[in-house]
Formats: sequence, C-alpha cells, structure tokens
Amino acid sequence: MRPIELMPTLELSLRTLWERWLGHLPEVAAHPSTMPDRSPEEVLFRLVARLAESYPFGHPQYAAQMLKPPHPIAWAAYALAMVINPNNHALDGGPATTYLEREAIGELARLTGWETFLGHLTGGGTVANLEALFVSRELHPDRPVAVGENAHYTHRRMAHLLGLSVRPIAMNAQGGMDLDALEDMLRRERIGTVVATLGTTGMGALDPLEEIVPLARRYGARVHVDGAYGGYFALLARGRVPEVEPGPFRALSEVDSFVVDPHKHGLQPYGCGAVLFRDPAVGRFYRHDSPYTYFTSSELHLGEVSLECSRAGAAAAALWATLQAFPLEPDRGMGPILSACLRAARDFYRALERSEHLRPVLAPQLDIVLFGLRGKSRASELASAHEQLFRSAARIDPPVYVGLYRVPVRWLRHHWPDIIPDQAETTVLRAVFMRPEQEAWTDRILDGLEAAIQG
Ligand SMILES: *Cc1c(COP(=O)(O)O)cnc(C)c1O
Repeated sequence: MRPIELMPTLELSLRTLWERWLGHLPEVAAHPSTMPDRSPEEVLFRLVARLAESYPFGHPQYAAQMLKPPHPIAWAAYALAMVINPNNHALDGGPATTYLEREAIGELARLTGWETFLGHLTGGGTVANLEALFVSRELHPDRPVAVGENAHYTHRRMAHLLGLSVRPIAMNAQGGMDLDALEDMLRRERIGTVVATLGTTGMGALDPLEEIVPLARRYGARVHVDGAYGGYFALLARGRVPEVEPGPFRALSEVDSFVVDPHKHGLQPYGCGAVLFRDPAVGRFYRHDSPYTYFTSSELHLGEVSLECSRAGAAAAALWATLQAFPLEPDRGMGPILSACLRAARDFYRALERSEHLRPVLAPQLDIVLFGLRGKSRASELASAHEQLFRSAARIDPPVYVGLYRVPVRWLRHHWPDIIPDQAETTVLRAVFMRPEQEAWTDRILDGLEAAIQG
C-alpha cells in the first residue's frame, strides 16, 4: 500500500474531523498574518527537491539501516491527529489521544504476558531505556547496573546521565550475553539491575533471557529488557510453531521492565518508543506536581508517570490506528509482516552459504544478517575490503545499500577461525531485512553485491 492510495480517505476524514471538532463553534477567518510569504506550491516543491536526496529506505534494495517509512495508515492517522496537535502530557491537552495511548500501551503489554503494568509512549528507545534505568536507580541508588557489551550504546550514556555505574558483560559466540561472565559479575558485586537485549542492534542477537532471569533473581537483581528493535518478535514466539527461539521471549513474563520501539518494527514514524513496568507502584518515583496542568480530570495524567512533559498525541493516534489495522497476532496483522522479514534474512543467509565470493558470519536469530568476503585473511585487509564493497555496491545500477558493523576480531574468530588478528577490531557487512518485500528480493541483493565485487 502506498500513501497516495489513502489520499481520498484522508481527505474525507479530514473534512469530517474538522466539522465534528470545530463545527459547533462560530466560524473563524484565517488571520492575515498567517498567509505564507511564498506560495505553498513553491515551498513544498523546493522541499521535495531536498527530500528526494534521501536513501530509498522503503525499497527492498535498501538493507543498510533500521529504517523504513511508516505504514500509510500510520502516516494518515498521524496527519489527521496532528491537525489537532494534542499533547499527551495531560488530559487537559490530549483528552482523546490519552485514551488512545492507554489502549495502545495495553496492546504492547500483551507482548510481555504481564497481568499488571504501568507504561507510556516516549520519544524513542533511548528515553524509554532512560526511564527504566531511572526507576532502577530509585530502587537501588548505590548498586551498579550490568549491561551487555552487545547492548545499545545509549545505555552507557543514560547510565552516566543518571550517575549509575555500569558493569559490562561479555558477549558469547552467538552475540548474546555470556552467562558465565554475568554470574561472575553477580557474585562479585551487588548488581541493581541486569539490562538484557532481545534483538541487538548490531546483529539481532537474543540474550538468553530464560537463564538470565533466574540467575539475576538468585543474586537479588532486577531485570530490564531492551526490545527496542526486537520486542515485536515476541508475538511470533506465541504462534503454534514459533518462528523465533521462544525461550527468551517467553521469559519476558518474569522481567521487571520492557522497552519496545514502535518506530522500529511497529510501522510508526519517529518518535515513538514505549516503556512498560510490571509493577505499577513504580509510578511513585515519578511523583511531582505541575502548577499549570492536571486540572481537567482527577484521573491519572500520563505526564504524572513519565519523565517528558509534552509528547505528541498524534504518535499515540498513529500507533492506535496501526494496531487496529495490524493487531499483534502471530498469524494475522503484524505477525505475517515479521515472518516475511525473518524469511528474507534466512534466505539471504542460505544464499550466502552457497555464494562463491561472500560468506555469512552466523545464522541470523531475527532479521539482521552479518556477512563478508571470502578469501581475505588479515583483519585489516578484511575491514578495508568491506568498506570498499559498502561504497561500490551503492554505486552500481541499480544500487544496493548494505551497512557495516565493527566487531572484535577475537569474537569473529568463533565463526571465521581463519582470520589473522593483525588488529583488535574489524568491520563486517550487515544487512537489515525489515521490509517484508525483501523476502522476494534477496537474490537481487546478492546479485548486486556480486556485480559490485566483480566491478
Ligand atoms: C534503536 C535502539 C535503541 C535506541 O532507540 P532510539 O529509538 O533510537 O532512541 C536502543 N536499544 C536498541 C536495542 C535499539 O535497537
């Protein structure tokens, strides 16, 4: 579906909304000062010229970063709600969209399997994780947090901001958190919270959550799960035949907090992240008063349980509408989209195994594949050849966009023991298959890469 196909529906919805929202008030003429200096056509056509410079994020030939245009329904819903521009800080500013946010959060909570929860949308995964670490600090102000070496870089930044010390935990051969290293750390120090990742940004690895949870509990530590990128895949763990390793996702039911980014796999525009806590009582750590807001209702305002003040009600409207169109079910709605992404990654992985010039690093757990060139042995040589291919693939016709990922050579040698470690780190190629259309495109992506290799 393309955005343009929704134009008639969007126009009709906009007319209807305008009428229902403002129709009962006296008509108001536009103020002369709001007439633009240049014609809207001119301004927008200039903008089009600038925007067209973007990489083709939504096209299957683009497999470089975790980026894709939102679903047209999310776009239309956002556009519609943005006309009102509600603010989900308080019921005063976002009466309708606050309820949409609560319903959407209720849907996201189903990914965890919790019976009780407190949660809200955020500007993105970074702020969502910040809030989880903030609660961790309030509960255990003197204890460090244990964060996987494989975790997103923002955990260290946010912990620094909160004055929390971080204990890094080594990564195992599969790219997940190493359990022996974690136990070592738990034995040595009183850790407040273990931060685990379901779907690492680099390679889509799953930390062994089903083993992390009992281990952390034994040492009195809490568990936070960063599922910013991978959290949605939890719904596939519920299917009759799970299409992802079910253990780590099933263990979500026992963790203390969970982050998922609807603006990654949830078909949403930026910024839409979400944080959820299993114990609603953590809401007490957010306690504050606002002299301006919280007046129209004695119900809980979302601003009373979130760190940010203004938040786009339109983001809640877009997510709510998307969840209506794509419910979080394994066999309909969101499930088949995620399944297609997994198949794309697995097909690409198998094609790499057969390729003459390229080879995979390891089998993908979700929809990210690491790979590289055959026949190079020195780590330094490998890095420069990959950087060159990254550039030349984007210059062939049609271009293929893949990404790069820096890894420790010591880790890479688990998979490619022939690599000579002449430096500590090297760079491999990385392809992200988060567009379901890529399922039918893996051969073309590989052909493009092969063509770029042969120059
Ligand atoms: C993207 C990502 C983040 C950061 O989220 P933003 O929405 O970019 O702020 C955190 N953790 C993981 C695992 C991610 O993939």
